[in-house]
Amino acid sequence: MTDNEDDQSVSLRLEKAIESNDFFSFIKPKDMVAIKTHFGEEKTQGYVRPNYFKMIGDMVKKKKGVPFLTETSTLYRGRRTNAVEHMEFAYGHGFTFEKTGLPIIMADGLMGDEEMEVTIPGVLYPSVKIASLIAKAHSLILVSHFTGHILAGFGAALKNLGMGCSSRKGKLVQHSTARPSIIRKKCTACGECIKWCPQDAIAMMDGKAEIDKSKCIGCGECLAVCRFDAVNYNWSETYVNLQQKVVEHAMGVVETKKNKAIYINFLNRMTKDCDCMGEFQKITPDIGILISFDPVAVDAASLHLVESKSGKSLPGMAYDIPYDEQLKYAKELGFGNTDFELIELA
Ligand code: SF4
Ligand code: SF4
Repeated sequence: MTDNEDDQSVSLRLEKAIESNDFFSFIKPKDMVAIKTHFGEEKTQGYVRPNYFKMIGDMVKKKKGVPFLTETSTLYRGRRTNAVEHMEFAYGHGFTFEKTGLPIIMADGLMGDEEMEVTIPGVLYPSVKIASLIAKAHSLILVSHFTGHILAGFGAALKNLGMGCSSRKGKLVQHSTARPSIIRKKCTACGECIKWCPQDAIAMMDGKAEIDKSKCIGCGECLAVCRFDAVNYNWSETYVNLQQKVVEHAMGVVETKKNKAIYINFLNRMTKDCDCMGEFQKITPDIGILISFDPVAVDAASLHLVESKSGKSLPGMAYDIPYDEQLKYAKELGFGNTDFELIELA
């Protein structure tokens, strides 16, 4: 890929590479194929464009698979907090049926709570909570956009798997060890959080909701249902701890897709922050697209290429934090392979 190469010509070359190497041979007739990506955020421009999904979906159909686009709701407030608004947002970014030929089905349901518990050989967790449709789909095509990330160092396949394919509870476990609290001046006393709290941990006190922290399990239902931004969470986590949690959740997704998944990383329009952030400023020229059956190898190769092609370390371009713990921890767990061989295809 040359810098700023147009998406149509890159898509044609990607199609040729997938076709000539029969990368989608793991897709069998009638397989329900989840194509997971990120639809971007307000003002952001880094997300992988809809035209690529038209091509990928058509190739899945050639294999007689049944493809659909999928995503999960965010924890933070915005237009992607629930399935309905998230889909409307995606349509606004061009992910319409007319443009992609793919329906969107949210993997974690209406409110982000449709999940499946998956047993993993982890150290931090014996099992993780994965968005149920991701776990149920027969095959997975994970399309990730490589960016810097304020907590994870970088976001690509592992982050898209670990955080992006988890249910809201799975995301919460990764993001926060703390319990929520109510911002009294924002609380309108609508009572919605009280109705949804599974622990009966919330009660109305002096006309405002209040959380009994001894009962709270940190499930995040109140965060999801409060429409007035009155629920506050402590998002602070150590960088290393968060990255390790992301890797164990990624492991959970991979457990459900043995020999039934492929990972495609886009190394273009790369920004300091992930596609959840509104700012768009490229940190390095476009590099290309990486494909692998191993999410660890594709991330290791992506990071190597970003640093070697730009001649700078990622912390020098994005955030000066421990940025490669995802790869170190995957290696420690024996999950995937941090060794890789780069083969140029088209
Ligand atoms: S849902 Fe929000 S606004 Fe309504 S009572 Fe709970 S905290 Fe207050
Ligand atoms: S996080 Fe869950 S358990 Fe805790 S107060 Fe909110 S809804 Fe209740």
